[in-house]
Amino acid sequence: ARLESLPTEDTPEAVLHRVFGHAGFRGRQAEIVAHVMAGGSGLVLMPTGGGKSLCFQVPALCRPGLGVVVSPLIALMEDQVAALRQQGIAAAALHSDLPEEEAREVKRDLARGATKLLYISPERLTLDGTLDFLARRPLALFAIDEAHCVSQWGHHFRPEYRGLGLLAERFPTVPRLALTATADPRTVEDIRAQLGLTESPVFRGGFDRPNIFITAAPREQERAQLRAFIKQASDGTGAGIVYCGTRAKTEQTADWLRADGHDALCFHAGLPPEAKRDAHRRFARGDAVIMAATIAFGMGIDRPDVRWVAHLDLPRSPESWYQEIGRAGRDGLPARALLLYGAGDIALARHRIAESPATEEQKRIERARLDAMVSIAESPTCRRRILLRCFGEDAPERCGACDACLTPPHLFDGTIAAQKLLSAVLRTGRRFGLGHLVDILRGRTTDKVAQFGHDRLPTFGVGKDLSETAWRGVARQLVALGALDVAVENHGELVPTDAAKPILKGEQRVMLRAETLVAAAPRDRARA
Ligand code: ADP
Ligand code: ZN
Repeated sequence: ARLESLPTEDTPEAVLHRVFGHAGFRGRQAEIVAHVMAGGSGLVLMPTGGGKSLCFQVPALCRPGLGVVVSPLIALMEDQVAALRQQGIAAAALHSDLPEEEAREVKRDLARGATKLLYISPERLTLDGTLDFLARRPLALFAIDEAHCVSQWGHHFRPEYRGLGLLAERFPTVPRLALTATADPRTVEDIRAQLGLTESPVFRGGFDRPNIFITAAPREQERAQLRAFIKQASDGTGAGIVYCGTRAKTEQTADWLRADGHDALCFHAGLPPEAKRDAHRRFARGDAVIMAATIAFGMGIDRPDVRWVAHLDLPRSPESWYQEIGRAGRDGLPARALLLYGAGDIALARHRIAESPATEEQKRIERARLDAMVSIAESPTCRRRILLRCFGEDAPERCGACDACLTPPHLFDGTIAAQKLLSAVLRTGRRFGLGHLVDILRGRTTDKVAQFGHDRLPTFGVGKDLSETAWRGVARQLVALGALDVAVENHGELVPTDAAKPILKGEQRVMLRAETLVAAAPRDRARA
């Protein structure tokens, strides 16, 4: 069967109906397509599932010449090409994983002008031979998918993407459409600068996913918290995803979920290929499964009925978190996201950044992203608003679909509590972890307390008014505020930073979320 190039006199609407079977454009698609049809370049910012593909596929099919789509992900490339070919579009992919024989065939088709849409990896595209070849052909457009890969501001930087800057110089008359789902204002400016799009418009689509109810909570009893969440979020037929910070934790989590009677699988990059394929297949097939996974799980999953996504560990940035929770509720039906976090997560992430081989500039960026993530987790105000602000989108004061809006937390002047904890840290010589410090504050004469004579400290017993959970909350919020560091490389001892000074001197008040301080966990009540 021969695939035909479409007659180019088709209008975008006609192509949308006939080829893709959609009734109309969505959101800003029509505007973007019209802009490219008129020869314009630009940057499209739309969340995953927002409908970015049509923004370049439709004009590529309507404009004369070959449409070139740069994509870094071979699996996604193959998916899109297969889908297009099924609609009768002469699409092909060219990347390094392609068997030599197939690559030759793709090139033959290209040379005959039999290809309408070419998906290509950035390293293939920027080869001299490829560019010279393209320079001799009529081109409909360049689409640069996952455009954030060009920016060093973030985790997705791909050196191969840097070479794409020369498209602007070599093909000044061909429209270039860059597309991304993950873009905070700084990434946006970086992408525009790198790809020569500073004079071109930015089309920002709706990042809000109003059908996802967002909850975040300190991690106290992880399993009990996840159980309660699943009970609330699961509809018995859809899927759920639990993101874990480590590979080992995905396995442990899948194990206890199975023991709890769930059909749970685990997924991480270290699994044998057949186990990964099996997990993907079971997930894609529509089984009512729970996937306990690292962030390695997610690329290219397009299952509409993921009912919930839980994070047992703090994600590294608002962008990653948004992308991961965005896998829930693609069908538009109600879905839920749960974020659990602890002071240790924040400290560990800070430590990893400090120890990474990245440049100082990159580390600064990573810290800023992490801080943004922590502020979403610890925020007493609407979480969706803070999240959307990270993408440069303004949102109403209250979304009505997050825990902070539904049950606004009470704020509490925690200055005295913060001072007590900080002074316990200082008086014990910054050598102890939180457990021991809480024993001192709550006046418990443990062996360790007696051994170090800490029952004779002035701070001994001054914190009986707060539960152990509450003290953990105070510590976490002080870590989030940057007043305390957790020495993860040693034994998790707490170390005050410069930011602790104004608090200790009473020059700075510390407002804490009251619920963390009041809600004592059952084990605390038993001890109290
Ligand atoms: P993105 O690349 O932004 O993640 P996709 O281009 O894969 O999103 O589109 C997500 C889903 O939305 C796809 O299933 C697609 O068919 C559907 N879609 C996109 N645009 C429209 C439209 N105008 N009408 C109906 N469905 C659409
Ligand atoms: Zn809200």
